Formats: sequence, C-alpha cells, structure tokens
Amino acid sequence: MAKKGAREIVALVCKNCKSQNYATVRNKLNMEGKLTLNKYCKRCKKHTVHKETTKLK
Ligand SMILES: [Zn+2]
Repeated sequence: MAKKGAREIVALVCKNCKSQNYATVRNKLNMEGKLTLNKYCKRCKKHTVHKETTKLK
C-alpha cells in the first residue's frame, strides 16, 4: 500500500487578487517550507506569484 500523508493536495493562490487558480500535489518529504510559483492568473491577466495554501475550495 502506498504511504499515506507523504503527498498532499495544495491550492495555488494568486498573491495579487487571492484567486485560487491551480491545485497541485506536493510531496512533503521532498519539499520543505512554502511553495511559490510564477503562474498565469486569469483575473490579473498576467503571470503573478502564486502561493500555496492548504485550503481547497
Ligand atoms: Zn491574480
């Protein structure tokens, strides 16, 4: 059986408009700390910094 708890689904939220645009699976074992990515935001109509959040809507 696959190990539980190692991977978790996180949402990526635009830092500018707080819009939740992406969801990704994060491996807690490989990555420490908060994840930030440059992603395209539909609301801002440009690439913005997206921050991970555990809150999934
Ligand atoms: Zn945005």
